Amino acid sequence: MIPLISDTETQPTPAMREVMASAEVGDEQKGEDPTVNRLLAQTAALLGQEAALWLPGGTMCNMIAIKVHTRPGDVVFADTMSHIFRAESGGAAITSSVMLEPVDSERGIFTAKQLDEARARAQACPEPYAAPLGLVCVEQTHNFGGGFVWTEDQLTSVAGAAKTLGMPIHMDGARLLNAAVASGVPASRFGGLMDSVWIDFTKGLGAPIGAVLAGNQSFVDQARRYKQAFGGAMRQAGIAAAGCLHALEHHVERLAEDHRNARVLAQALAGMPGVVVTNPQPETNMVFFRVDPGLISHGELIDTLAQRGVALGDAGAEIRAVTHLDVTSETLALAVDKIRDVLTAAEARVA
Ligand SMILES: *Cc1c(COP(=O)(O)O)cnc(C)c1O
Repeated sequence: MIPLISDTETQPTPAMREVMASAEVGDEQKGEDPTVNRLLAQTAALLGQEAALWLPGGTMCNMIAIKVHTRPGDVVFADTMSHIFRAESGGAAITSSVMLEPVDSERGIFTAKQLDEARARAQACPEPYAAPLGLVCVEQTHNFGGGFVWTEDQLTSVAGAAKTLGMPIHMDGARLLNAAVASGVPASRFGGLMDSVWIDFTKGLGAPIGAVLAGNQSFVDQARRYKQAFGGAMRQAGIAAAGCLHALEHHVERLAEDHRNARVLAQALAGMPGVVVTNPQPETNMVFFRVDPGLISHGELIDTLAQRGVALGDAGAEIRAVTHLDVTSETLALAVDKIRDVLTAAEARVA
C-alpha cells in the first residue's frame, strides 16, 4: 500500500528503532530523564524559546497552552478551519471553558485586519456583556488550508496586532519544520515571535511518539502543572524522546524531498481527467483536489485506489494526499499511474 493519507503514517526507521532501544532513561515525571532533557534543550533553542516541555502529542500541547494563557469565558481566536477548532473533539471547551471565535482567512493564513474584524465581532457589545479577550492562535503550516506557510512578515503583523489588543499569541506548529524548510526561514524566527509554540515529532519527522511545547520559563512552569493534571506526565519517556532526537538530526532537511514530491503529484493530478487541484502549487507536503462527480464519486475513487494499493484521504469536499518519509519518488510515480488509470477508465465509462 502506498500511504498518502497522512504524514502520521510513517513507520520508525530501523536506525531510529536502534537509538530508541539503547536510549538512556530516567523518571520523566520528576524531570530526571536525560534523553528527554536533551531533547527539551535542543527544541527550545530550535523554536527560539527559553524552555520546553515534553508531551505525548500535539493535541495536549494546544490544550495546555490554551489553559495557561486563558481564564474560563475568555475569547480564543483561531481561523475557521484550524485544528483547534475542527479536530480536537471540543478539547478547548472541555479543558479551558473558553469561547472560540473563528477568524476568516485565506486558506488558513489571516491578516491583522481579519483578526481585528473577528475581535470587533466578539466585542460587538460593550463590557460587561462581551467576553474578555484571551488568546490568538495560528497554525504553521496550515493543515486543512493545504499546507500553506505563514511568511515571517504575515506572522510579525498578526503577532503585533495580538500584542496591541493585549493578547498572547500561540502557534500550533505541528508542521513548523516543514514551513522552515520550505521558506528557508529558521524555525526560531517563526517561534520567537510567539508566546508559546510546539512541534510534533510524529508527522513528517517520522517519530512514533512525542511533541514538545515551548515558551518562557514562567509559561513552561505553569504548563508543567497542567501536564500533570491532564495525565501527560510519563516515566522512562527517553525511549520515545530518542526517536525525536534522531528525527531532528536525520529527518528535517529531507522534508524538502516531500515538498518536491507534493509538487510533482499536484502537477500530475492537474493533467488528469475531471481533476481540479485546489492547491496546484503546494508549498509543503499536501495536495488537495476534487474530481468531477459526473466522472466518479470521491468515495468510489478512494475505494478503487485502495484496492489497487494507493491510500488517499477523504477530507470532506476534497481528497487529500500527503507526502512523507515513507513515500519515495518511485512509489509516488507508481501511485500517479494508478490514479490516472482509474480516472481514464472512469472517463471511458462515461463517454
Ligand atoms: C496532527 C495535528 C495536531 C495534533 O497533534 P497530535 O500529535 O495528533 O495530537 C494539531 N494540529 C495540527 C495542525 C495537526 O496537524
